[in-house]
Amino acid sequence: MKVVIIGGGLGGLSAAVSLASQGVEVDLFEKNDHLGGKMMPVDEEGYHFDFGPNTITMPEVFKDVLRQGGLVPEEELEFIQIPNHTRNQFSDGTTFDLSSDREAMYNQLLRIDPSGARVYYSFLKEVERLYVLSKKHFLHRTFSSWKDYLSPSLGKAFAQVRPLESMDHFFKQYFSNPKILQSLNRYSTYVGSNPYVTPATFAMIAHLELNEGVYYVRGGNTKIAQSFVKAARNQGVRLHMNQEVKRMVTNGSNVTGVLLENGEIVEADRIIVNGDLLEAVPKLLSEKDRPSLSQKRIDRMDPSISAFVLLAGLDKKIDSLHHHHVFFSNDYKKEFQQLQMGQYADDPTIYIGTSSKTDPDISPKGDNCFILVNAPALSTNQNRTPEEYRQLIYDRLKEHGMDLEPHVAFEQVIPPTEIQQKFGAFRGALYGPSANRKLQAFMRPFNKSRDLENLYFCGGSTHPGGGSPMVVLSGQNVANQIVGKISHIEA
Ligand SMILES: Cc1cc2nc3c(=O)[nH]c(=O)nc-3n(C[C@H](O)[C@H](O)[C@H](O)COP(=O)(O)OP(=O)(O)OC[C@H]3O[C@@H](n4cnc5c(N)ncnc54)[C@H](O)[C@@H]3O)c2cc1C
Repeated sequence: MKVVIIGGGLGGLSAAVSLASQGVEVDLFEKNDHLGGKMMPVDEEGYHFDFGPNTITMPEVFKDVLRQGGLVPEEELEFIQIPNHTRNQFSDGTTFDLSSDREAMYNQLLRIDPSGARVYYSFLKEVERLYVLSKKHFLHRTFSSWKDYLSPSLGKAFAQVRPLESMDHFFKQYFSNPKILQSLNRYSTYVGSNPYVTPATFAMIAHLELNEGVYYVRGGNTKIAQSFVKAARNQGVRLHMNQEVKRMVTNGSNVTGVLLENGEIVEADRIIVNGDLLEAVPKLLSEKDRPSLSQKRIDRMDPSISAFVLLAGLDKKIDSLHHHHVFFSNDYKKEFQQLQMGQYADDPTIYIGTSSKTDPDISPKGDNCFILVNAPALSTNQNRTPEEYRQLIYDRLKEHGMDLEPHVAFEQVIPPTEIQQKFGAFRGALYGPSANRKLQAFMRPFNKSRDLENLYFCGGSTHPGGGSPMVVLSGQNVANQIVGKISHIEA
């Protein structure tokens, strides 16, 4: 069997490794000059930045790909756990650290939310339950129709993962201090959504960070993508960079191959689209070949949020900066309301990832700050230019007592327009459709086309979702479905 994969993001690479390790012939085409998609290293003027995933959870998922690729994970990647992983700072100067050290969390809570401290261990149990159920029933399978959710086995599991409750409402059952609630509600942004509407199911992210831990890969998280490339080559995958797929060739009921920009047609028995489904598929297939993904349907989709990113190399190391450091806005609700209206927030929450705190050798000249602010998906409503917003971010940081601007020796600004163009992301959104509407949250675009028999989808815009481990699982799930290891539904 021969499979063509369109796109070399983490999903495409993990599908490639998994298929090739099971004897399938694989050609992968990537339009950019690097593999790994949004997990992209930026090395400039002595500074290294990990664009994309800075917060890594579920290391076993990545290691599994390397094992499938015939490699020994420990020889390729050193995952370092960061126990007190995220400093949350508020405008009154107070801080609250998220940690996988239960006692440290309990002691902090005792000081600022005593009733929260008393229920903290039961909270950890509940978020673990949400994760275990999701893993068992949803994460390791593909979906090809909304009917899959209605099957007796899944329907029961579905009802147990708090699908109708909002994340914010769920956290409020355990904690009352607004700063703790804000720190936890930020998990909704990991799926590109709004905590006041996104289902409580995604509180399982708290399990990953608080029970299982946050990791960093020595030398940069982008080494994960590089190790996937090595695994793919090791299994004989043919990786083609700088090769954009222009169209898929169909015979009405099947895809038969892909047309490259150089005019060559490459035939295949199965095709997997790893590029953002909502952006890639309309370009690759005419509307008559995709009745279930009509333009009308795409236009109705509520996109997940995008990001406005500054890569800032500093001329010094700043001791008060933590590896993961969040500077919160004063009014979180208003921030999400503005994003929802397609506008940049006036008072944004600012995340800074500085890997030189854990890995000093990676940036010897000074700190390597990856500064990320939630941004609206591209729309006609936008209220700021990149220059204005860059300045607003540095001004806000200064008000928080973190005056970085005078120390910036290297800088690159990456606004949502660039995320759209470089990675083919639908309206610059990070994860395709948002999880804001209850139905949309669970009915993510499926992994198998409903229109063309041998066409599959993987990556952050599809099931099971956006974060890098989920994307890797989507690639593996699709590969397993293609080789007949899993059927998409086991009801
Ligand atoms: C700013 C930012 C911060 C993030 N932070 C985190 C984080 O902290 N933790 C975490 O786990 N995740 C994070 N993520 C999410 C994570 O990076 C993504 O979910 C994941 O990398 C997406 O992988 P993917 O397989 O969907 O493919 P993508 O990375 O989207 O890659 C798809 C590839 O397909 C290619 N392509 C598209 N169309 C074609 C075509 N026609 N022909 C050839 N090639 C094509 C594109 O060029 C692209 O390289 C972040 C993402 C961003 C952007």
